[in-house]
Amino acid sequence: MMNSLKAIESGFGRKVRFVQLIFVDINGVPKGMEIPAARYEEAIEDGISFDGSSIPGFQGIEDSDLIFKADPSTYAEVPWEGIARVYGYIYKDGKPYAADPRGVLKKVIDELAKEGLTAYIGPEPEFYLLRRNGSWELHLPDGGGYFDILSLDRAREIKREIAEYMPAFGLIPEVLHHEVGNAQHEIDFRYDEALRTADNIISFKYVVKAVAERHGLYATFMPKPLHGMPGNGMHLHISLWKEGENLFIGEDGLSDTALYFIGGLLKHAKALTAVTNPTVNSYKRLVPGYEAPVYVSWGYRNRSALIRVPAFWGNGARIEYRCPDPSANPYFAFAAILMAGLDGIRHKVEPSAYVEENLYEISDDRRKRLGIETLPESLGEALEALKNDKIVRKALGGAYENFVRYKEREWEEYLAYLEANHLPKDTKRVTEWELERYFHV
Ligand code: GLN
Ligand code: MG
Ligand code: MG
Ligand code: MG
Repeated sequence: MMNSLKAIESGFGRKVRFVQLIFVDINGVPKGMEIPAARYEEAIEDGISFDGSSIPGFQGIEDSDLIFKADPSTYAEVPWEGIARVYGYIYKDGKPYAADPRGVLKKVIDELAKEGLTAYIGPEPEFYLLRRNGSWELHLPDGGGYFDILSLDRAREIKREIAEYMPAFGLIPEVLHHEVGNAQHEIDFRYDEALRTADNIISFKYVVKAVAERHGLYATFMPKPLHGMPGNGMHLHISLWKEGENLFIGEDGLSDTALYFIGGLLKHAKALTAVTNPTVNSYKRLVPGYEAPVYVSWGYRNRSALIRVPAFWGNGARIEYRCPDPSANPYFAFAAILMAGLDGIRHKVEPSAYVEENLYEISDDRRKRLGIETLPESLGEALEALKNDKIVRKALGGAYENFVRYKEREWEEYLAYLEANHLPKDTKRVTEWELERYFHV
């Protein structure tokens, strides 16, 4: 195993010759171009023009002259490459480009700021480290489970190496651990202001994939790479602050503001899934038995619930939204979640009663009596819910039309694949079509 500290030193010593200008497409996949370092000033001041016609979810060829303007607060040097990378905003005809995911989230954050609000988000991204021999037969390099250490965690050095690279990108690693699935892992990093955390998620996936590759492994953030094994979630810990005070702290427990925020999330939960769980494969994760949510509900200790309120002390009051998975475009997901929560606050939406029972085991009858609804069971169903939800649609701003059109096509292609292969329409098995399309998300 290579010595990561040495690698960092050798990278940092090098002169930055090129700067990678990075934005994400509709899927949250980073795209970019490189400029010689001498043009960096220009990328900040005037922006660099590019042709966006072939970027998934951007516009058609008729009208694709876009400008990338670097946001220098995101500048970081890639330790192992001797280059730097920077995120930015996209402009068109002198105005923010409506389909730019980072711009979409910025607009929502500005709307919160008008009311003096700042959102903080901390993610828990999960991933598998797998081996494959060209085919889709995936091999699990370790047989460990939740919190296993030493020889059961074959990837412990890899995780440490990832964590050691993270600070170079502005991420502060907090906890590294083996997850429930064999060869499944989680690395949590410090929460931050929403836009910064969305950037951090992009950086995190980049580091994990790069380090895994150097060890001859594939890191996959696909929501459900293996049937019968736990899925990859990306729980989000969320709090809202005003003038340096956490608004989620109540007299004893959560504040009314926090409860209304929960009310908003529950009210818009079905439409939100289209954004927080935006792939066909996402819905193979949202099944009973794997600590992933299936029902629209909340609780304090309940790990089968959609929203959980973790025990907290001091300023740690927050809610944990357990639906999102790492295939989500984090900018869109945060924009949608924050607007749904804000809607709850603005309209004082009372959440339903909290439930502490294991929802996977509760009978259909009892669930109905408690008024607990079911989350969408497919991307198709989620997109229908999104189309009927004005608040979540609005959160996606100018990207909404492209998003729905793009995702509807994805859903139809999948249905066509199932039909061609005589597979049932509601199969919960993971198909080759999904592995082909999502393994590298
Ligand atoms: N992997 C689970 C999910 O899909 C979460 C497991 C956990 O972190 N307790 O959300
Ligand atoms: Mg965790
Ligand atoms: Mg976890
Ligand atoms: Mg969690």
